[in-house]
Formats: sequence, C-alpha cells, structure tokens
Amino acid sequence: MTKWNEICTLWAMNINECIALADAPMRSYWEYSAFGHVDICIVGAGIIGLSTALECRKRFPEASITVLEKAPHGHGATTRNAGFACFGSATELLHDIDAFGNDHALGIAKARYEGLASLLKRCDPAAIRYEQLGGGELIREHELAVLDRIDEVNAFAKHITGDSETFRVLSKTEQQALGYSDAVHAIIMNAYEGQLHSGHLHATLERLASEAHIRIEHGSDVQSVHETSSHASLQVVTQLGEYVLHAKRIILCTNAMLPSLAPKLDIKPGRGQVIVTTPIDGLPFKGAFHIDEGFYYFRSLGNRVLLGGGRNLDFDGEETVEFGHSEIIMNALESMLREIILPGRTFDIEYSWSGLMGFTSDKKPRVTSLSEHVYCAFGCNGMGVALASKIAEDIACLLSDL
Ligand SMILES: Cc1cc2nc3c(=O)[nH]c(=O)nc-3n(C[C@H](O)[C@H](O)[C@H](O)COP(=O)(O)OP(=O)(O)OC[C@H]3O[C@@H](n4cnc5c(N)ncnc54)[C@H](O)[C@@H]3O)c2cc1C
Repeated sequence: MTKWNEICTLWAMNINECIALADAPMRSYWEYSAFGHVDICIVGAGIIGLSTALECRKRFPEASITVLEKAPHGHGATTRNAGFACFGSATELLHDIDAFGNDHALGIAKARYEGLASLLKRCDPAAIRYEQLGGGELIREHELAVLDRIDEVNAFAKHITGDSETFRVLSKTEQQALGYSDAVHAIIMNAYEGQLHSGHLHATLERLASEAHIRIEHGSDVQSVHETSSHASLQVVTQLGEYVLHAKRIILCTNAMLPSLAPKLDIKPGRGQVIVTTPIDGLPFKGAFHIDEGFYYFRSLGNRVLLGGGRNLDFDGEETVEFGHSEIIMNALESMLREIILPGRTFDIEYSWSGLMGFTSDKKPRVTSLSEHVYCAFGCNGMGVALASKIAEDIACLLSDL
C-alpha cells in the first residue's frame, strides 16, 4: 500500500485531502506519520486538560493521546490560582442555597468535595504539598446575621462531610490568637479545608501524564477546529509555523479562552488578581481563609500570606481574557492585608500576578459534546482545584468508543 492509501484508509479521507495535508510546510514524513493523527487530542494543559488525559488513558489503554498547550507550562488558571483545596465557606454555601435552592447548592458543593477526594487519590498529597490545615471565614459586623444560620449550614454540610459540626465559631480567645483586626467580629472555622502548591500540582499531573504515555506538546496554539464525517482536525500555530493535527476525538479544555474555539457557550471570563507578601516573623495563623462570601481569599504560604480576589469591585472590568492588574483591585487587596488581616505587621508585597477563570450562569461546570467528534469541559467558577478530577471522570465517560 502506498503512503497515501494507507493514510486514506486509516482516516477515511480522500486522496486530495491527504496530499494537501502533506503539503503542510513544516512537517517531515516522519513527524506527520508519527504525530499528525491521534486518537484523542486534548486542547489545554491546565488541571482539567491533564486530568482528562489521565482519565482517557484509563478508559482507552491503547489509544494515542496528545495534549496541546500554547504556553511553556499552563497559562490560564491552574498555575496562577491560590491553591485552596476547599468546597465552600459558610456564607458562600448559604448564598448558593438562597440563590439556587438546596438541591442545586448541594450538587455544587458535593462535586467539589468528591473532586478533592479524587484529586488526592490521583496525586500523592506529599508531592503536591497538600496540607489539611483547616480554614475559616472572617465575619465583619454587617455579616453577623450568618451566625444565626450556623445550624442550617451545618445540617447542609453534614450531607457532604458526614460531620454535624463542619462549621464551628471560634471563641473570642481563639480568635484573638489569630491577630486579625477588631473589624473582624467572628471567625467560622471548617476543619475540612486544605491547601496545596499549585505549581507542584501541575508538575505532578504532567509527570503522571508522561508515565501514562500521553504526549504534551507545548508551544502549540490551536487556532480553529474543523470536522469531517470521520474525524476532526485542529489548525495549530507554533513558533516554527503552522500544521494540522487530526484526531478521532477532540476535547477542548481551554477554560476562559474557550469562546475563541467554540463560541456561543455559557461561559464568561473573569480575571483574578493575587498578591503574596514577604516572609512575616511570627505569622499568627495557618490555613485558608475567606472574606465576603469568598470574594476575597487568603492563606498562609509558609510564613508569607497570599491574598486574592476583589473581582466584585469591578465585575465588568474583570470580565476579560487579558492578564494584568487593575489599580482599584490591587489597592483594595493591599488595604485588606494591612487593615484587616495583618494589622500592625511589617511586610512588603513581593509577588503579584493574575489568572483567568471561566464562569457559568448557574455556577455548575459543563461537560458536553459539541458534535460527534468534539467535546468540551469548562466552567469551574473559580473552584477548579476541587472540581477538575470529577469533571475529568465525567468527560472520559461521555466519550463514544474510538
Ligand atoms: C487567581 C485565581 C485564583 C484561583 N484560586 C483557586 C483556588 O484557590 N482553588 C480552586 O479550586 N480554584 C481556584 N481557581 C480556579 C482554578 O484555578 C481553575 O478553575 C482551574 O485551574 C481551571 O482549570 P482549567 O484546566 O479548566 O483551565 P486553565 O488552567 O486555564 O487551563 C487552560 C489551558 O488552556 C491553554 N489554552 C488556552 N487556549 C489555548 C489554545 N487556543 N491552544 C492551546 N492551548 C490553549 C492555556 O494556556 C491554559 O494552560 C483560581 C483561579 C484564579 C484565576
């Protein structure tokens, strides 16, 4: 059989299509025949893309699987987040119950909790620096009414953790030991909250992918997706030129950047900004904390503090896929640190960055097929560390046989 007949048969294409592909200027015959067509191609090497690749490997042990990623390592949310491994603060859960109803809110929170358990099965907790230090929520005067709903939120959370006292209000002495400002009137603790190192999590997923014989092609920016009756293909731009990659199944996992490949989906981008302090002598707290229904989140990072959030100060301005900082939010973050979280302490801001989240209208992720050969998974609503493993399991189950 000639090369063309072989490829035509394999990919059910006509000979002209095959020859047009071989004309792609940058690929040698070897490159084209070894890497030019795969069984499963995943676009985006964030936590969802990599977890999805690993779940696909479980379901299709013999399949060729490639992940295309435009950045040197991930460059969206996974390596730019806060590393909280949590399923929701008391005020956030109560907000979701009020906004969406009990069952819907329970569905969201349970998926996060189960997703975290699945993540910790997939990745060695020590490798991703997972620590279950607990977490809490700082309650200011205007939020004190939440304390009247502690029994309600505990009854709700019992369906998730099995514990009838998931949330506990600290005594005044316990609260004072944490050193927050007097503007904090109460602290609601949750022993089930954890935190991890997002860079090591990403590196661990990449290592697992490599061990599972999954190719990751960095520097591959997917421009568009096309479909024929037998398969789908991707137009890919690299620093060296363009090429086309064919796949029996394509799974789009590009999060906030999804609309450029698949428009008209229920997803909106949201930028998150983060700052990290210099080391602080005698930092009085450990763990992952929330303020203001989770719109602000901070955690200990060794003896530094990481703080992010403030998107609610300018929802419209932050609905963007542009990385960068806004003065209003950076100022608000720094004031929150100096006035509420670390009053009277001396520190500087040593790191600052931004990342991109993908939001859906009902806070639920979407795992769906767009056509016979193209699928997508998106919409972690700022909780992808918790949700990704579960989403990956769901999308791998959805894939039709190869
Ligand atoms: C500031 C911030 C703080 C957060 N904090 C937390 C937290 O503490 N806990 C938590 O659970 N969640 C948190 N999140 C959310 C969490 O990080 C995300 O939900 C999760 O990382 C989403 O993973 P993903 O794989 O869908 O997307 P991403 O990590 O964004 O991955 C998508 C990948 O696709 C690539 N890509 C995009 N377009 C293309 C293309 N055309 N071709 C090739 N590659 C492409 C991108 O480069 C990127 O690497 C936070 C997010 C942000 C931004």
